[in-house]
Amino acid sequence: MTLPVIELSRVGRRYDDGPPALHAASLTVRRGEAVAILGPSGSGKSTLLNLIAGLDRPDTGTVTVDGVRVDRLGEAASARYRRSKIGMVFQFFNLLDDLTVTDNVVLPARLTGTARGEGDRRAAELLQLLGMERHARAYPGRLSGGERQRVAVARALMNRPALLLADEPTGALDTAAGQDVSRLLTDLNAEGQTLVVVTHDLALAHSCTNRTVHITDGRITQDVRSPAVAPGAVR
Ligand code: ADP
Repeated sequence: MTLPVIELSRVGRRYDDGPPALHAASLTVRRGEAVAILGPSGSGKSTLLNLIAGLDRPDTGTVTVDGVRVDRLGEAASARYRRSKIGMVFQFFNLLDDLTVTDNVVLPARLTGTARGEGDRRAAELLQLLGMERHARAYPGRLSGGERQRVAVARALMNRPALLLADEPTGALDTAAGQDVSRLLTDLNAEGQTLVVVTHDLALAHSCTNRTVHITDGRITQDVRSPAVAPGAVR
């Protein structure tokens, strides 16, 4: 719980001539933490996530994730970094509709050159863990939103990422499916998965994380740790 997974040091990012999208933002996230990033639309949440994921570079400051200076990576190294260190979950799942559930889940392992058998075994294990094994051969188009998000979470976990990043993971789900995904994220964190969730959904933020970071106009304005949730309290 003590090693930093994310270290942002005085990170600034400005697009064109606009006001800074992020202004001298510093943030340390330690291994095993679950952090929600909250803030109104346009406050800089996606900018922050993109910098952590190496999808964008800061103008000033440094971004270090699991010992990698992400702000210094070129394009190819950045793609490799994402594949090996980061699992990403998106609002609209971003599954490939013409691949089966298993092939979607196994894709990150294929991209890192993991042997086929090993990738398939891990995919089966993850689908079982997430209660999706009976849909292994289905295509995503046949699944509900909540089921698709489970598949997306399985895919994100494929390469055992140091960090799971979720961008509005319940944004496209109804309440029950949203609670289901929230419980899933809570359970993963209880197993030790470091988690950063960008969301407007306060219920999600409070149920599956133990720290909330508020961003307003590109500045981190609040950083609040809540007491650990008792095991089973959110089930
Ligand atoms: P949030 O995710 O909290 O809605 P963003 O990080 O998307 O906020 O945006 C922060 C600010 O940066 C906003 O003013 C937005 O208009 C601006 N911005 C974000 N991305 C770009 C871009 N690619 N080009 C120009 N301005 C951008």
